[in-house]
Amino acid sequence: MAAAPFKQYRSPESSQEVVELLTRYGEAAVLLAGGTFLHGLAARGLMSKMEALISLQKAGLDYVKPQGGSLTIGAMATFRELLDASPVKGRPELGAIADALEYPPPQILNAATVGGSTASAYPLFDLPVALIALGGAVVAQGPGGRREIKLEQFFLDYFRHALGKGEFLAEVIVPKLPDRSASAFLKLETNANDLALLNVGVRVTIDEEGLCRGAVVAFGGGIGGVPVRAATCETYLEGSRLSAKLLDESAQAVTHDVHPISDHRASARYRATAAKVLARRALIRALARLGLEFG
Ligand SMILES: Cc1cc2nc3c(=O)[nH]c(=O)nc-3n(C[C@H](O)[C@H](O)[C@H](O)COP(=O)(O)OP(=O)(O)OC[C@H]3O[C@@H](n4cnc5c(N)ncnc54)[C@H](O)[C@@H]3O)c2cc1C
Repeated sequence: MAAAPFKQYRSPESSQEVVELLTRYGEAAVLLAGGTFLHGLAARGLMSKMEALISLQKAGLDYVKPQGGSLTIGAMATFRELLDASPVKGRPELGAIADALEYPPPQILNAATVGGSTASAYPLFDLPVALIALGGAVVAQGPGGRREIKLEQFFLDYFRHALGKGEFLAEVIVPKLPDRSASAFLKLETNANDLALLNVGVRVTIDEEGLCRGAVVAFGGGIGGVPVRAATCETYLEGSRLSAKLLDESAQAVTHDVHPISDHRASARYRATAAKVLARRALIRALARLGLEFG
């Protein structure tokens, strides 16, 4: 493994101090969260121009707080801490989070962080797609203060995000979702330790009459540089009465929304076919959390 060239190791004890260090070291600074992705970048020599390694470990960002129905997740909350947080356990509307965190192995659950997973801006990761389905946003903190960025605007391309100079990802926010909402997440992988060939996060809101009052269907994995929303599929669902036929039709509509890539792991055609199957299964899984059986 290529030795990391860092001349400075800093361990700030507040968000303010993180911003000061980022401002001081500029593009020569790199943040360290759980280190599970960063170590791979360092091993490939991609850290060669970096001078300062800034650990977020002591910055006081390892919390998961319910706030009036919404959820505020500190950037340094680990996958395990999020999974075990009482606001997440057993809530149908947050089912996508629990589903997405079923996949990583225990070592990653214990070390990887919500902030690191999101700020990596790697479209093959799972949690960000689940968070998009939930309408999530990040809180960026920088020299100009704090600003909220919807996750859909946060991801710009492979490894590119919307954080500006001196900014870091301080929190992820999941907004309060309407009553009778449920979500789910599914991943297609070649083996148990694989990154997604394709993944999908869905969220539905169903009223007392059985009409769909809100739907989000988001795909990640091999679909290009950023996760995508399946707008045509969502339009099929919105305002419609749920039935097995409607679920079939809406899943078929994914064809208009998702244009996967071909690579050494799977062809675009395979992924496109799988996208329809995955969307239907994820919708069925979410609806089952509301006691509605279509499987
Ligand atoms: C064996 C293995 C199995 C895996 N399985 C899965 C899986 O099943 N599903 C899945 O989704 N992922 C999986 N992963 C990937 C894993 O999710 C990522 O490695 C992890 O999310 C990265 O988070 P981290 O806290 O370790 O970030 P780090 O490695 O510390 O950092 C990642 C990047 O984000 C930057 N960064 C970190 N925190 C911040 C912040 N707060 N603000 C701005 N920038 C920041 C860092 O500078 C770095 O560029 C796996 C990884 C491994 C090694």
